[in-house]
Amino acid sequence: MRAILERQTVRNSLSNAEDCDAQSARVGGGSSEFTSDEGGGACRPNKPRLERRAVKLIGVLDWLLDAIAPPRCIGCDMLGARGFCVTCRAPALPAGALTLDGVPVFAAGLYAGALAAAIRRFKYDSRPDLAAPLAALLSQPARDLARAGPSFVPVPLSAERLAERGYNQAALLARALAKASRGRVEPRLLRRLRSTRQQARLDARERRENMLGAFTVRAARVPERAVLVDDVVTTGATAEECIHALRERGVDVLAVLALARTERE
Ligand SMILES: [Zn+2]
Repeated sequence: MRAILERQTVRNSLSNAEDCDAQSARVGGGSSEFTSDEGGGACRPNKPRLERRAVKLIGVLDWLLDAIAPPRCIGCDMLGARGFCVTCRAPALPAGALTLDGVPVFAAGLYAGALAAAIRRFKYDSRPDLAAPLAALLSQPARDLARAGPSFVPVPLSAERLAERGYNQAALLARALAKASRGRVEPRLLRRLRSTRQQARLDARERRENMLGAFTVRAARVPERAVLVDDVVTTGATAEECIHALRERGVDVLAVLALARTERE
């Protein structure tokens, strides 16, 4: 029930938020992490009364949603857990330092166990509502990076994949990260020039060749700084090509934020 409601909220916001910035898109619906943040900020006395009422109303709606459909673990669907449940939290290993062309990669963990399960549900089980709880795993580095005023830029999907899935998971993450860190999101800054072969069966060298020149920056005006956002960094070939495309237009890429990364071969 909750998932259905949240998916509906995401779909609604997706339909009119593709081009606008993150502030106006309430992606992820009832994530308590993000709404409580907003609630804290919104209670300052100089906020207009209408806005305070809206925040209160959202709080009540969240409470009602919790009452009707309590939160579930994003890894195993266990009732009552927000984010990961106690069992799922344990297997997620901390990711070590990794850089791609001098750009640091921040990942919430290695692509394994409950984290991998949650990412698969997010991407393949039509669960765009998991964007907010998953993005919450990266809220600390996102907030730190947001101080430099970058735009959060998602790795784009091919048109076919987008049509098939109905949403770009990296764009949903970028929106959620921008929202949580009060930053900007530019969901359409990068464009995939051509459809690339499925990366899964290719080795590192083939992946690199497959991705060469696959992306371009299509905006007339570009941000000074960017944080690249993707769901999983595997060999880093995709992220590296995005970094090159951004750099070609003079954009300073501060970091790559990914939910998970695989161990490098
Ligand atoms: Zn769990």
